[in-house]
Amino acid sequence: MNSTYQAPTPGSKIIIVGGGCFGLSTALALSSANKNYRITVYDRESIPVRDAASNDISKVVRMDYGSSKLNMQLAIDSIDIWNQWNQESSIPVYHNTGMLIFSGGATLCENEQQSLFHIRNAGHGDWIEELNGDQIQQRYPYLENAVRSGLSSGYYNKVGGNNYVRKGWCNSAEAIKLVYQKCKNNGVQFILGKESGHFESLLCKERSVVGIKTKDGVSHQADRVIMATGSWTPSVIDMKKQVIATGQVVIHFRPSEKIKAFLKDMPVWFGDFSRSGFYGFPINKDGIMKVAKHSTGYLNPRKGDRVSVPRTQSTHEGDTIPVRAVQDFREYLKVFLPVTEELDITYARVCWYADSIDGEFIIAPHPDYDNLVVATGDSGHAMKFLPMIGTRIAQVVENIDNEYTRAWAWRTVEPRAGFYDRPLLVDENQTVRMVTPSELRSSKL
Ligand SMILES: Cc1cc2nc3c(=O)[nH]c(=O)nc-3n(C[C@H](O)[C@H](O)[C@H](O)COP(=O)(O)OP(=O)(O)OC[C@H]3O[C@@H](n4cnc5c(N)ncnc54)[C@H](O)[C@@H]3O)c2cc1C
Repeated sequence: MNSTYQAPTPGSKIIIVGGGCFGLSTALALSSANKNYRITVYDRESIPVRDAASNDISKVVRMDYGSSKLNMQLAIDSIDIWNQWNQESSIPVYHNTGMLIFSGGATLCENEQQSLFHIRNAGHGDWIEELNGDQIQQRYPYLENAVRSGLSSGYYNKVGGNNYVRKGWCNSAEAIKLVYQKCKNNGVQFILGKESGHFESLLCKERSVVGIKTKDGVSHQADRVIMATGSWTPSVIDMKKQVIATGQVVIHFRPSEKIKAFLKDMPVWFGDFSRSGFYGFPINKDGIMKVAKHSTGYLNPRKGDRVSVPRTQSTHEGDTIPVRAVQDFREYLKVFLPVTEELDITYARVCWYADSIDGEFIIAPHPDYDNLVVATGDSGHAMKFLPMIGTRIAQVVENIDNEYTRAWAWRTVEPRAGFYDRPLLVDENQTVRMVTPSELRSSKL
């Protein structure tokens, strides 16, 4: 911990920059704390923000976390609240579909084995159903080709306590709207907009942060500032190379009625995830099937310091996804889910992670300043924690020492070789380019 950081006193004025998953969840937790904090959230757009990572039709909610018991427990705690929120919301924010996780080869990969070990150790072994290739094929006929191609071991995490399935997916845009409303009900103020809500710089007196300045030139005083600017964080605050913005690819299909019937009861799936990075969702009520890839991603370095900055459909209308990404998805799906071969990609997006060097969040006082906390480094897996992450971030803000605040403390980790060398999203000569809308169609690449 930053030894000079001090918890705010009751009644303090707290600025949170960023109205996404981390920012809103923190505003909710701090405004529920009976400390009379005066909280204002700033964002460059109205909430839910079009190009925020948290604004999406679906995100996976899983408790399978390899060797990370802390994340597993945080997921279990979050799912209890996801279920409560479903009771409160007219539109379901959480869908209990269960999840099928499978690996190439006859035995599960190391990461999946670790997940099972910890789930069983925590006393939840009865939620797990291990499946061999024959069982997978029998239960999910559309995966016959995947199994024949070697993806032949897996497990289904079926039922949790209280008779509900403890994994599935959340409608993240609807969840953000719900939390936004809860914050407003708690008296949190919002200043949103591309000038008035857009953070430009910190206001400092020597090392002490005393507020922020927004793009409209206005200064806003505060006792504490929390930067929850997602993948934009390393481009607005010096994160000392511990975090980089990486672009990750998402595609949608709109299957025909016939294919929908064939894919009926499809769970959330992770297809040899540790090696391939691919995962997908059941077809939603609007007939959309989403497939995504968790990968090293793409970089968009800005001129000068080469810091990667999110490039999105808000900043670059008409952007699609890189040519090589379409080829990559098509190649994988041809084997894993050949029924998609005949389908057009109806929508494609590059969505941005704040990738930390070790994949853990960085939620900590910034070492260069007093009164400044950063909540970032989501590394592509924080949305499931929306109900709980704010409580944990508030503990950092209030300088409470526990295993989470320690795990997410400011770090100076040496990156693995090649960490910063990732493919470019586009290049100036257009040798690396995005596909045209017609190339998204099934037969065009
Ligand atoms: C493709 C993809 C798939 C994912 N899948 C999953 C999944 O299946 N399960 C899961 O749990 N997680 C998933 N995630 C991760 C999850 O979406 C993120 O961890 C989470 O959204 C991070 O929240 P955040 O608040 O840090 O960032 P965001 O939600 O992006 O919010 C950051 C906010 O900061 C604002 N901001 C930025 N700069 C400024 C500025 N200068 N001034 C004012 N405001 C600013 C932005 O406008 C934005 O609203 C996925 C992410 C991506 C990209």
